[in-house]
Parts: sequence; structure tokens; C-alpha cells
Amino acid sequence: MKLDVNVLRYLSKDDFRVLTAVEMGMRNHEIVPAELIERIASLRHGGTYKVLKNLLKHKLLHHDSSKYDGFRLTYLGYDFLAIKTLVNRGVFSSVGRQIGVGKESDIFEVANEDGTIMAMKLHRLGRTSFRAVKSKRDYLKHRSSFSWLYLSRLAALKEFAFMKALQEHGFPVPNAVDCNRHCVIMSLVQGYPFVQVKQLQNPETVFEKIIGIVVRFAEHGLIHCDFNEFNIMIDDDENITIIDFPQMVSVSHRNAEMYFDRDVECIIKFFSKRFNLSFEANADDSDSDAESDAVKPRFSSIKKASGFLDKELYASGFSRKEQDDIEKAVSLRRYMVLMMKK
Ligand code: ADP
Ligand code: MG
Repeated sequence: MKLDVNVLRYLSKDDFRVLTAVEMGMRNHEIVPAELIERIASLRHGGTYKVLKNLLKHKLLHHDSSKYDGFRLTYLGYDFLAIKTLVNRGVFSSVGRQIGVGKESDIFEVANEDGTIMAMKLHRLGRTSFRAVKSKRDYLKHRSSFSWLYLSRLAALKEFAFMKALQEHGFPVPNAVDCNRHCVIMSLVQGYPFVQVKQLQNPETVFEKIIGIVVRFAEHGLIHCDFNEFNIMIDDDENITIIDFPQMVSVSHRNAEMYFDRDVECIIKFFSKRFNLSFEANADDSDSDAESDAVKPRFSSIKKASGFLDKELYASGFSRKEQDDIEKAVSLRRYMVLMMKK
């Protein structure tokens, strides 16, 4: 997705007023009729139609006349609303190059007035689902674009909350700076995705560090669920940072053990392939339980009591409905992660 932020400069107050009116209209309309937009925006000198035309030209809105005539926000329009809000808050003042394309996100560098560079993650839930997932589940059908905006917003909110709490508990994660709509601002991780690393000075130490994080997640009541070489960043000193949190689940999830084992397996597989570490020797050897536990942690033997981070989080701010919706959204994401690995 191209994000030409120069357009931002050419958009007037009225443009944003109308864009916001469409967003408000979308709370209960999939497609928002022009009359309703006009009423919500109530521009002092009229001219909503001219503004709509301008927003269409810049692809911030989509015109739809399939059921009835109206407009809806595009992802780009939603991006601009979030960016504008965060810029007004003084969180950052410019958008730079794109640094990552995730499965369901776009990541850009942003900078504030002091020149500090941060990372901006724009969630795009559902972007790939219809293309990537061949066998669609029921809840994948009849999803409106409104839902995708809504679910992307919840994914961002969840990611932000988890990042913040994990940081407070001493986990190596980016610093969660701010969040608006589907957009999360966090510190820029120095280093590169682990998948790009061909050699390590101390593969055993790095492995233990990484597996140690999976275990500590579980001890805090959490499972990452997409723990692999794409979501682990590493720097030249072999320091680790974990990213990408919207799909995390609680250790009390009914598939918790499966998710935990899968996270562990991903790491083991990567290390044995890329760095020739061998695990077979004692991984499945029931005679040397203690040793095998040290290498390959078992879900059942982890004390999952220290903190109950998950409960703490859910107690803080998410409404019941948002919890349910977000669970739907991220289970779809977990499902996609599974499909893509096949
Ligand atoms: P997705 O959920 O779509 O997989 P990620 O959060 O994993 O998105 O980010 C996608 C890519 O963007 C990462 O693999 C990484 O290369 C880059 N990235 C994400 N967050 C940061 C960050 N805070 N600092 C530097 N690079 C990042
Ligand atoms: Mg990722």
C-alpha cells in the first residue's frame, strides 16, 4: 500500500471534517449516504459534495452504489485519520520510509520534532485472509469493510496494551509509545529480523535466551502464538527483542498447550536448520527427563502463576464485547498463521 503523506498537507480542515463524518457514519452504516455525511459534518459554508469528490480523488474514500448510494473509508483514509490525530498530539511530525510489510500490517518509520525515529505499525486485519486462506470459516464470510476497520482497531489496542504490560514486566519488547485507531507507535528496534541472520557467535546462548522468553511468557500467563524468526529481532551484540503481539493468548486458552509447543518447535526447527544445533539427542528421551526439560520446555512443568498478566490486562479497559470481538479477530489471525505455515 502506498502511503503518500504529502497528500496530508493538501487536505484542508473541511476535508478532515468530512472524513471524520464518514468514520462516524460507519459506526452504524456499512456505506454512509452523502446526506448523512453532510448532516454530521455540517460544514459552515456547505460544499460537502465538493469535498467528497476531493477525498475520492485521493482514494481516502470509496464510492459504493451497489446496495444504495454512499461512501466508506478506505484503509488509506483510516491511516490519515490516525496519523493526523497522532501528529496533532505531538507524538510524531513526519512519516518516513516503509520498513516492514507484515502479514497484516504495514510498518513505517516516523520521526518527532527532536529527530527521534520510531516505528509506526498500521494494522490491516483481513487484508490477506481472502487471498491466503482457501477454506473460509463461517465468520470469514459476509464481513463488511466496517468490521475490518473495527477489528484492526482492536488488534492495535490489544497489541499496544500487551506491549506496554510486557515492558513493565521486564520483557525485551519495543517501548509502546502511543496508539490511535489501527495504529501503534513504538520505539524502533535496532537490529534486524532473526530470519536474516546467517551466523551467530553463541548460538546456544541465543537459543537459551529465546526459549527462556517463551517460558517466562508462560509463567506470566501468556503464549505468543506466532513466535518465530520473523517476530524476533536481534542486534550485533546478539540482544533479542520480541515483536508482534495481537494474537497472544492466555495459558488458560483451550489450545494453550498446542500453541506453546508450536512456538517452541518453531524455534527449535529454525536453530537446527540454520545453526545446526541438535536437539534430538534428549528431546524425546524419557529416561533423561531433567535434561530434556532443560532443552525443550514442557508446558505442563511450567509454574504458570507469577502475575497472571492476562487477567490483569483484560481487567484493564477492554469491554466484554471488545474482548469477544478481539478474540474473534485474532483467532482468525492465528488461523491464518497456521494456514501459511502449511
Ligand atoms: P505483522 O503482525 O504484520 O507480522 P510485525 O509486527 O511482525 O507485523 O512487523 C513486520 C516487520 O516490520 C517485522 O518483521 C520487522 O522487520 C518490522 N518491524 C516491526 N516492528 C518494528 C520495530 N519496532 N522496529 C523495527 N522494525 C520493526
Ligand atoms: Mg510479524
